[in-house]
Amino acid sequence: MDKRSLLKDKKRIVVKIGSSSLTHEATGNLNLAKMEKLVRVLTDLKNQGKDVVLVSSGAIAVGRKTLGLNTRPAEKSVKQACAAVGQAKLMMVYEKLFAEYNQIPAQVLLTKYTMLDPVSRRNAENTFDELLKLGVIPIVNENDTVATDEIEFGDNDTLSAIVAALIHADLLILLSDIDGLYTDDPHKNPDAKFIELVEEIDENLARMGKGSASDVGTGGMATKISAARVATDAGADMMIANAENVGIIEEIIKGEPVGTLFLAHKNINFSLLDYLQES
Ligand code: GLU
Repeated sequence: MDKRSLLKDKKRIVVKIGSSSLTHEATGNLNLAKMEKLVRVLTDLKNQGKDVVLVSSGAIAVGRKTLGLNTRPAEKSVKQACAAVGQAKLMMVYEKLFAEYNQIPAQVLLTKYTMLDPVSRRNAENTFDELLKLGVIPIVNENDTVATDEIEFGDNDTLSAIVAALIHADLLILLSDIDGLYTDDPHKNPDAKFIELVEEIDENLARMGKGSASDVGTGGMATKISAARVATDAGADMMIANAENVGIIEEIIKGEPVGTLFLAHKNINFSLLDYLQES
């Protein structure tokens, strides 16, 4: 049976979008047309009766633009100041766009500490449950303003997989600036082949995940593969797809042949805490 035909039945979906997909490459300004469409597509998933969580990057990128800094800040305190400014602005834009469709978004900022501590992890889980019960669309990011180098998720690919595991999502969609996983870096190797389906993440596959770090985001293919390990171990399918047209989310749910699909293989020994402690 075509595994993709089962995607329409997914009930709890986490969608992650990165900074480079949310902003215009030439100016660093927000790509409002894309955000608008993303908000419409997510609302429509909710209208189909699904629980929807958005993991959105962009705090640092938006903050840096707002503060008139032309380059990606290297200093931690500057990044954290940018995140404080940018996160508020990002939420303001999401609030406005979701309001058009009568949706209530909520901001959930997480740190690795939140996830490592059993009490705050349970609190976070309960909050997500309650928000979803109330029909809210949680918008998640790392709390970059207080995260420290020693203990941070660092990239939202990992964070979104952890959120998917925490809330028992059955599908995680990573929207990226690439169509999915290739056998090699397609920008450098014209013979690189596209991989449509991954049933098992082995070492060979992990090697294919060459870095593709961009100027504005932090995730590369390697972080996506490690996110896939967490999500699929926790029992969620994961999809990497191109964010160029966010309507691709609808195509994914319809089972159309887009993106790379990593199949869930619920590992009963999987423990989110063990994973967090080791990473
Ligand atoms: N949390 C960071 C931000 O919102 C982005 C992390 C990432 O690019 O994965 O700016």
